[in-house]
Amino acid sequence: MMKQHTVRRNYEFTGKGLHTGAVTSLRILPAPAGHGIRFSRTDLGGAIVRAIASNVADASFNTTLEENGVRIMLVEHLLSALAGLGVDNALIEMDNVEVPVLDGSAAPFAEAISADGLQEQDAVRKFLELMEPFLYKDDRTDAWVMAEPCSDFEAQLTINFNSPVVGVQTCSFDSSVDYRSQIAPCRTFCFFSQLEQLAAAGLVKGGDMDNAIVIVDREVNEAEVRRVAALFDAQDVKVRQGYLSNVDLHFDNECARHKMLDLIGDFSLLGAPLKARITASKTGHRINTKVAAMLLKQLSEDKS
Ligand SMILES: [Zn+2]
Repeated sequence: MMKQHTVRRNYEFTGKGLHTGAVTSLRILPAPAGHGIRFSRTDLGGAIVRAIASNVADASFNTTLEENGVRIMLVEHLLSALAGLGVDNALIEMDNVEVPVLDGSAAPFAEAISADGLQEQDAVRKFLELMEPFLYKDDRTDAWVMAEPCSDFEAQLTINFNSPVVGVQTCSFDSSVDYRSQIAPCRTFCFFSQLEQLAAAGLVKGGDMDNAIVIVDREVNEAEVRRVAALFDAQDVKVRQGYLSNVDLHFDNECARHKMLDLIGDFSLLGAPLKARITASKTGHRINTKVAAMLLKQLSEDKS
């Protein structure tokens, strides 16, 4: 029988939130068997926010949790690292609202934790097992998610942004894929035109152009690139093969791999590892978390 696992020691990260720009100190601490993943706001008397799908309050730009009026923003990359490495139980202490974005990937968390290995606990890991096929089609877009019974967690996704730069990309994940080297380093991405809108709306305050891949999705001139770069304190930025030149891609399909990173984080909100084969097309946080909540409800009803 597979046992539950927690982290071996405390890990501390300090950095800016992508959306609020607020500097947050975050600590990942070991937790007992059966605890699951919980956040604790040390600036609010240690208020607890459990990482479960029924606590999702907003999933438009990032996954935000809320419990008893207390929020935690941008949980997905940290939750992905924990789920991807097989951490069942951990307490995450934070002194502000948003998980630091760091380099826009899950690598800083995954590298630190996997360097020490995990602590096996004296309790059997509980899985959620899908018994019947499940299909969700989104009304607003043509995104969809299919889940099928499977003896393990497997996922395959396709992105198609109708952009000649990104094109159609796919990414597959199962137990044969090394999460740490293949998924965790893949950074968040956005489109040049989106960046201008977000900046104008006062969002992405913590974006500094090193923590996101920027896809240039329309004709731009040098002055426009300079203006956007200046908004994010970046210098010597040019357009190179459809991307802003300040970052080099880790993989040709880094965008699809980052979507897989997000999916793994969002599906971990089921609160236990899922045994199912997921196929997803053109999905994001909104649909991932909706499907996770639907599956959680369905699977907990099956059990009772
Ligand atoms: Zn992401």
